[in-house]
Amino acid sequence: MKKELKSSGASPWVEPLISWFYTNRRSMPWREESTPYRRWLSEIMLQQTRVETGTPYFIRFVERYPDIPSLAKAQEDDVLKLWEGLGYYSRARNLLKAARLMVEEHQGEFPDTEKAAKKLPGVGPYTAAAVLSMAYGVPLPSVDGNVLRMYARLTAMGENVMEAATIKKVQQALQVIIPRERPGDFNEAMMELGALVCLPSNPACGACPVQDHCQAFATSQVDQLPIRIKKDTTTRHRYWVFYVLDSTRRKVAAKKNPPKGLLGGLWAFPMAELATSHDSQRDQGKREKSGESGVEAARQWAEYMDPFEYIGKYNHVFSHRKWFVEVFHSTTDKENLPEGFQWVPVENLKELAFPEVYQKVIRLMEDRPATI
Ligand code: SF4
Repeated sequence: MKKELKSSGASPWVEPLISWFYTNRRSMPWREESTPYRRWLSEIMLQQTRVETGTPYFIRFVERYPDIPSLAKAQEDDVLKLWEGLGYYSRARNLLKAARLMVEEHQGEFPDTEKAAKKLPGVGPYTAAAVLSMAYGVPLPSVDGNVLRMYARLTAMGENVMEAATIKKVQQALQVIIPRERPGDFNEAMMELGALVCLPSNPACGACPVQDHCQAFATSQVDQLPIRIKKDTTTRHRYWVFYVLDSTRRKVAAKKNPPKGLLGGLWAFPMAELATSHDSQRDQGKREKSGESGVEAARQWAEYMDPFEYIGKYNHVFSHRKWFVEVFHSTTDKENLPEGFQWVPVENLKELAFPEVYQKVIRLMEDRPATI
C-alpha cells in the first residue's frame, strides 16, 4: 500500500522511508490487529524486551485479558504470574494500576490526549507518543534510542544523544517532519529501519531506503555517529601524599590555594598527587606539562623531606571523588620554601581555613605531639 505523504516540514527522506516500511514491515500481532489497548500493552512489554521474546507473552496476555476492563478486574498475583520471566515487574504492576485508572476515568479506554496518557502509571513521553500516534493518529514523534541513532546519522548531528537537550531538539525537529496523515506509520517506520537496517554497528547502508539523503553516509561518518557520551557519575579515586614539613622553630609549611577549583581559597599543606583512577595518558601528560603532576610536586619537596617519617593515612570522600591520602613528616632548617608556601606557626593553624581533608592532617599531628 503506497500513499502520498505530507509532512508540515517536508523532508525528502520521509516518503522513501515509509514506502520501505509498507513493503518490509514485520508481521506482529499488535500490528495485525491494532487497538489502543494492544498498542499500549506491546509498547510496555517491549521495553527492555526483544520482539521475539515478548510476542508469546503478548499472545497469552491478550487471550487472558482481551481488553482494558478485563485487565482492570485482574488480581495482581495473576498478572505477575503471566509476566513471569519477562522481568522488570514494575511494568506489570503499572499496567494493572493504569487499567484500573482507565476504567475509573476514561470509560475503560486508553485516553486520546497526550496530557491524559502521560498521567497513567508507567506511561512516559515515548510510550504516550507511540500509542497515540499508532492508535489515534495523533502526530507526536516517539523518540527512542533507535530513532535518535537514525536521526543523528541522517542529519550528521554532532550533539551528544545522551543529553536531555539533544533529545528535546530531535523531538522538536521530528515534530515538524512527522506526516500529519500517518504519524503512526512514520514512527513505526523509524523504529523498524533502526531495528533492521540502521543498526548500532555495521548498519546495512547498501539496503537502506534513505541512503541518498543520509548525511553521515555521504560524509563517511556512519561509524562515528551518533555521539554517545555518558555523564560520568562514577567516583573518581585520587591518590595523594601530604607532607608535614616543620621547621626547627615550630612552624609548618602551608599555602593558600588560588580562588578557583575544588578547594579554592582554602589552605593546604605541601602535597603530591600520585595518580587518579581516571587518568588517561593524555591527562597525565597534560598534568606533567603544567607542573601539576605528582612527579613534579614530589621532586619539588624531595630536598626538604630527607629523611622523612610516615605518620598515617586516611580516606576522604567528596561528592563523586574519593581521596586516598598518606601523610609523611619531616623537619628542615631551610628558610626558603617553594613559591606560594609560607611558614605558619603551629599555634595559628586552627585559625586558618583548612578544609576537612587537611584538618585530618592536623588531627594526625595532634595525636603525635612529639612530631612537631
Ligand atoms: Fe543508517 Fe546507513 Fe541508512 Fe544512513 S545510510 S540511515 S547510516 S543505514
